[in-house]
Amino acid sequence: MPRIAPSSPLIRWIVAMLAALGPMAGQSSEPVIAIHGGAGTILRENMTPALEAEYHAALGSALEAGYGRLARGEPALDAITAAITLLEDSPLFNAGRGAVYTWEGSHELDASIMDGATGRAGAVGGVRGVRNPIVLARRVMDASPHVFLAGPGAEDFAREQDIVFAPDAWFHTDRRREQWQALRKRNQAASGPMLIGTVGAVALDTAGNLAAGTSTGGMTGKRWGRLGDSPVIGAGTWARNDGCAVSATGHGEYFIRLGIAHEICARVRIGGESVEAAASGVIHGALEETGGTGGVIVLDPDGRVAMPFNTQGMYRGVMRAAGEARTAIYAEP
Ligand code: ASP
Repeated sequence: MPRIAPSSPLIRWIVAMLAALGPMAGQSSEPVIAIHGGAGTILRENMTPALEAEYHAALGSALEAGYGRLARGEPALDAITAAITLLEDSPLFNAGRGAVYTWEGSHELDASIMDGATGRAGAVGGVRGVRNPIVLARRVMDASPHVFLAGPGAEDFAREQDIVFAPDAWFHTDRRREQWQALRKRNQAASGPMLIGTVGAVALDTAGNLAAGTSTGGMTGKRWGRLGDSPVIGAGTWARNDGCAVSATGHGEYFIRLGIAHEICARVRIGGESVEAAASGVIHGALEETGGTGGVIVLDPDGRVAMPFNTQGMYRGVMRAAGEARTAIYAEP
């Protein structure tokens, strides 16, 4: 048989073609997880080294929890659920424990999840007392015939499914209450993203499947059952194995109007753009042009990650190898 040198143009062409095809059935992918903890006015002058360290540590733990599952060959859906659950349990972020206050002084939580392999999705909006809304969104996807449940009905479903509830005190943090009280004093209901700290995750598992999820308390002082983009499939969350996985954070009204998460993936899937070009194009293009602020984390089936934002900062992180959790807060490292 003729011998072909590894550097021959034929071999290089075959390798390039295989890489372009991406992971195929039976072929394993290098697992990757990326997370965010919200975008917005995050200024160094408002931070202390100790608080910064707390954020890095919380993001790092969430990455470790998610990546650990991926490294054991578990599905991307389980990895993002594990990472988001930890972020929801941290009082640092506006999701689960530490969620912002509504105008009336309660906590109304939104979350969504999507499976890139099957296109299945689950979401909950305006739920009270549910300790981990991402777990409930996942249950809507796995155990109901629906995609989106809201308010008391979603809570009834949660009780039927033995989802864990927590008392009001669990969600309380002094700084969120102070922000709410200041807003009430000015008699000014929410009109913009009063607080950062929405959380989200995207992951690629060893089977080549993508998943995305997002969880938030929404906007400080929100009223009238306001829902943001986070629980809206296609706006705050989207995943498709032949496109990409996206989790968004920012001024939800703009993300809904622009269908940001779906738009980014459509540019990748149909337009053939890289995740970097598609995500930056949407965040620094349509979002900025319409006056919206925020950012996204995006992951493609080859493990490429993009994390553009048009705010001062976005809590974020990526992990693609054991012991190598990389986290960042500001635009410049
Ligand atoms: N997107 C969320 C909302 O509008 C808020 C955020 O990401 O900070 O509810």
